[in-house]
Amino acid sequence: VPFSTGFVRSLAMEKLTKEQRSANMRAVKSRDTGPEKIVRSLVHRMGYRFRLSRNGLPGKPDLVFPGRRAAIFVHGCFWHSHSCKRGSLKPKTNADFWAVKLARNAARDEEQIVRLKEQGWRSLVVWECAVKDERRLAARLRRFLESRTGS
Ligand SMILES: [Zn+2]
Repeated sequence: VPFSTGFVRSLAMEKLTKEQRSANMRAVKSRDTGPEKIVRSLVHRMGYRFRLSRNGLPGKPDLVFPGRRAAIFVHGCFWHSHSCKRGSLKPKTNADFWAVKLARNAARDEEQIVRLKEQGWRSLVVWECAVKDERRLAARLRRFLESRTGS
């Protein structure tokens, strides 16, 4: 889930170096047009029906399966601090600003998954970088969706 409004994003972008900015533009572009669409399309082709969102659910999951009480988040690696290369990118300019912002995002992500669990929902996070390997992703999605317990 994109964590910020366009305004916050553009504000944040001003604080990146040119190199970081171009890396980040790629991330933003692929997130807005790519990963969520790919996951939705794949899940649909696998024969599962879902909703795009559901009011009142913590964290506004990208795909919601009400009958299964299951929710899927498609997260951008940079904004949600994935452990991969892109997610480990630490802007050198305004390092403190970024450290706080990214840590806050990660804390909020965890909190939302806990809140979902408290309400009886299982959650799966699909990382942007995991979307390329469609066969592996499909297997993982099926395991998650068919699982009756845990997350
Ligand atoms: Zn990643």
